[in-house]
Amino acid sequence: MTKLLQRLTKLTAMTDCKCMLCGVDIFDNATGFCDECIKQISFNNGHVCLRCGTRIAPTQSFCANCNFDTVYFDKAYSPFVYEGDVVKLIYQVKFGGHAGILDVLANYVAFMVDKHKIDFDEVCFVPMTQQSQRERGYNQAQILAQSFCELVGTTPLDVLVKKKQTQRQEMLGRAERKKNVDNAFAVVDKSKVKNKSILLLDDVKTTGATLNNCAKALKRAGATRVVCVTLASTPQQFVYE
Ligand SMILES: [Zn+2]
Ligand SMILES: [Zn+2]
Repeated sequence: MTKLLQRLTKLTAMTDCKCMLCGVDIFDNATGFCDECIKQISFNNGHVCLRCGTRIAPTQSFCANCNFDTVYFDKAYSPFVYEGDVVKLIYQVKFGGHAGILDVLANYVAFMVDKHKIDFDEVCFVPMTQQSQRERGYNQAQILAQSFCELVGTTPLDVLVKKKQTQRQEMLGRAERKKNVDNAFAVVDKSKVKNKSILLLDDVKTTGATLNNCAKALKRAGATRVVCVTLASTPQQFVYE
């Protein structure tokens, strides 16, 4: 990890130093935020689900999704809570903020990996369908994975594919989300993940249905362990339908 931190320092020095939210010049990219914006950021430091890392009520151990669904990933973590200005931040990630924003956010992934001692053999990312990727021009999860891999001196495995065009998850309720992404993902080269421990990256986790289906495909392809890190996760909203 010391090696990782050395690389991180180098990267931080190289990156254009602007606040990821308001764009003002900042001294360095240690956090990526200016002094004003950082006060508005929800860091995911509170009480979280033991399985998926979603912020939950202090009386609970697991969130509703992990209580009721079959969970294929082993653990999930996120540095930010998807609320307030973090929603704006993720919007920048999805629809084009300043260049280098994912390089800075990859530092947060690295910190989560270090903090939780996540051991992994390979890094994967949640794929888009070819059509969606053509429309947007890039897959933010893939760029995040590439930026993170540069920090640790490896390359991401591009083996997950999205087989069907799904509706946008944001528009759907919990049950619909589950059905929408059910068996939507597959692994193209199973030998690359067989007996491997996988670190799976994405930008946001809402119910975890997308991550869960990617993890299901990876486990069926022989992966021994799948740990997910998303930049942000939606706090528990007590939806039990
Ligand atoms: Zn700012
Ligand atoms: Zn959970």
